[in-house]
Amino acid sequence: MSIEVRKITKTFGSFVALNDVSLHVASGELVALLGPSGSGKTTLLRIIAGLEETDAGSGPILFHDEDVAGIDVRDRRVGFVFQHYALFRHMTVFENVAFGLRVRPRRVRPSRAAIREKVQQLLKLVQMDFMADRYPSQLSGGQRQRVALARALAVEPKVLLLDEPFGALDAKVRRELRRWLRRLHEEIQVTIVFVTHDQDEALELADRVVVMNQGKVEQIGSPDEVFHEPASEFVVNFLGHVNVFQGRLESGRLHFSGLTMDAPPRHGGSGAVRVFVRPHDWMVETRANGAPSLKATVCQINAAGPHARLRLITEYGEWIDVDMSHDRYHELALYTGAAVFLVPRDIKLFLDGSNGFAAYQAAREQMQRDARHLSPAGP
Ligand code: ADP
Ligand code: MG
Repeated sequence: MSIEVRKITKTFGSFVALNDVSLHVASGELVALLGPSGSGKTTLLRIIAGLEETDAGSGPILFHDEDVAGIDVRDRRVGFVFQHYALFRHMTVFENVAFGLRVRPRRVRPSRAAIREKVQQLLKLVQMDFMADRYPSQLSGGQRQRVALARALAVEPKVLLLDEPFGALDAKVRRELRRWLRRLHEEIQVTIVFVTHDQDEALELADRVVVMNQGKVEQIGSPDEVFHEPASEFVVNFLGHVNVFQGRLESGRLHFSGLTMDAPPRHGGSGAVRVFVRPHDWMVETRANGAPSLKATVCQINAAGPHARLRLITEYGEWIDVDMSHDRYHELALYTGAAVFLVPRDIKLFLDGSNGFAAYQAAREQMQRDARHLSPAGP
């Protein structure tokens, strides 16, 4: 079942929670709504579910190209799972999952045997069949969320709406459940809209990511697109840690933090820019080698973890965070106080006063060629 919302606005009093939001979710797709707290994710999800009305003048909400305005919430075949699992405490796991089927009107209610079989099937699907007789209080958080998913699936929804379903769980369990949900989605092919404020979760799980900010959609794209071709400064900032510099474009050259390089194509203008470089997008050299670089001094080193993380300071007093492989770190024999040259491997650039991302493809490719040339081993 596909979902489409067109030009939706939602205000609470004078507060605009959603501002002209449009979104199309293809049938069987898993889409993540990603944004900070208060950006309107839950409101959008509740509108899709029919639990909240849109403002007058908003466009329609279509399920499978059909306006659902007139369709009662119970008949929309939508399953829900929220952050705070609301299992019935006095019912076993089995009874919780069976509930949605048992309360159906007699004429459409499956037989006892059919319910039993269906519930067992679902519990197997969420790998909880061996705990059917337990009560919610006897389960871990992750297990409860799996039961909540099985319960939502019992009524065979065409659309599954998940509002930060793993938000209350610790990081390790969350990662496991993510992978598990991804596999489940491949198995059952239901359309899923998944709300999260965790960019790793969205990038790992979703077919497409909708980045939201202050009630607006900043960008819709595949995880790759939003990460590598962010449409706005907000998106660059929200999708993980990034170093920001004030820079200038002048006569085809880009200057920031003592570094001068050719301005990217389509950046013919002059003026102030903001330059974004992610920690893993720096090449670190101990000798200048002709490539445009900036000088910095190593201030802190943290080599525990998958990468060595360095904090450096430039000659202009700007802090820079750099991640590098342990191999490269040992090769360079870095120490606190070491002077190094930093060569950016990839840059995102935004002109002041505009929020449009200037693609910069050719310059990026040039930098990547430089990078390979400078560091044959590659980081
Ligand atoms: P998110 O899920 O992204 O954290 P929400 O959709 O819950 O954001 O909320 C978006 C904004 O709308 C918030 O500022 C919130 O306070 C406001 N809001 C949500 N629901 C209501 C409501 N029923 N009444 C008034 N304000 C609301
Ligand atoms: Mg929310």
